[in-house]
Amino acid sequence: MPSDCIFCQIAAGERAADVVYANDRVVAFRDIYPAAPTHILIIPRQHITGPSALNAETARVVGEMFLVAGQVAAQENLAESGYRLVVNQGADGGQSVFHMHLHVLGGRKLTWPPG
Ligand code: 5GP
Ligand code: ZN
Repeated sequence: MPSDCIFCQIAAGERAADVVYANDRVVAFRDIYPAAPTHILIIPRQHITGPSALNAETARVVGEMFLVAGQVAAQENLAESGYRLVVNQGADGGQSVFHMHLHVLGGRKLTWPPG
């Protein structure tokens, strides 16, 4: 684990976060700068920088991230109203933390296309 990775630190319990779900493979916590009334990040415990770094083995956790996203969205009462799942990759994608994460955004009408 890169010791300077803030999401590895959150996964390890070494950095405070409002965790809404965790298991042996993934952790879900509220974004510190929410871009919508509900803004949750879902990360693999394993340090994977982003989609471009996935391989056949590490890709398995991606399915679980989406499964947990659906469960967390339901917990947040977003299942009916809807929500958006986003993964940013690299500079042009707007990625600022280089530990892969799935954004769950909801609680307001989101615009499309994104900026
Ligand atoms: P990205 O821009 O890489 O797709 O998303 C990174 C997200 O992490 C941003 O929405 C940002 O607000 C959030 N974030 C950055 N640092 C922290 C932190 O220390 N704690 C939490 N909970 N979220 C953070
Ligand atoms: Zn990390």
